[in-house]
Amino acid sequence: MDRRGDLRSDSALLTRLLADPATRVFRLRGDAAEVVEDGHGGLRVVLGAPVPADADHLVVYLGESGGVHHLGVAEDLPDGGAPPEGMRTLRQVGARVDDIGASVFATTLALANWHRAHGFCPRCGGPTVPVLAGWVRRCRADDSEHYPRTDVAVIMAVVDDADRILLARGRGFTSRGMSVLAGFVEPGETLAAAVAREVFEEVGVEVTDVTYLGDQPWPFPSSLMVGFTARALGTRLRLQESEIAEARWFSREELVAAIADGSLVVPGGISIARRIVEHWFGGPVEAPEVASLR
Ligand SMILES: [Zn+2]
Repeated sequence: MDRRGDLRSDSALLTRLLADPATRVFRLRGDAAEVVEDGHGGLRVVLGAPVPADADHLVVYLGESGGVHHLGVAEDLPDGGAPPEGMRTLRQVGARVDDIGASVFATTLALANWHRAHGFCPRCGGPTVPVLAGWVRRCRADDSEHYPRTDVAVIMAVVDDADRILLARGRGFTSRGMSVLAGFVEPGETLAAAVAREVFEEVGVEVTDVTYLGDQPWPFPSSLMVGFTARALGTRLRLQESEIAEARWFSREELVAAIADGSLVVPGGISIARRIVEHWFGGPVEAPEVASLR
């Protein structure tokens, strides 16, 4: 998807595209969308033509793909309302949907979450309205502009000198669920410093050689997870009791055995946590799919 930021300042863009039957629309209802089997074992996010009612909801311009313009339309559900039959959340389907579908789903969800929470100006308290095709909100009272925020979090494999990985069970995880450590980056902090701080706070281990592996948008509600591997300078654990219920080092053999005997559940395929574990493991970890450890 080419996001075509150059088109966003055209104030007639959304109206024009909503009136064009060639436009493809991704429809978010609450936090769910319609997803169908693609006939090849995967899933496809449904993109439809615009309908008149779309103009009553939040509309954002997503970009252009194959010469076709794409819009995201986000419809709020009544408080506590369940999504209509057949609709799925990104957590449920993210690991199996097509690339364009995953991109429009994640982008529309992240933007909708931001719009829902930023109806008022942080400077003067006045009401704000969407502008720039849904990518900015502007205050009606003082004309200040407010941009969507992305909360950066680091997530990391900590590996010791014997090439064992550290997995931890956070407070609130299921009883057998364990994952790699993660935490939000603080203001003024580099990513590598955040990795070192979070690991030391949560398990009392100092790390070095912090190396970037990859990243993943995580719009629940508005994060970007940045993945790293880091080398532990020691193996003695001192757990932060308010956050971590249990932590231990796993060799590859111990990981395989713990998954096989049912004593360990690792994160599901949608998550960068699973890919970080598999990067260390050296290939796919065969384990039952779970959407969330929480
Ligand atoms: Zn204002």
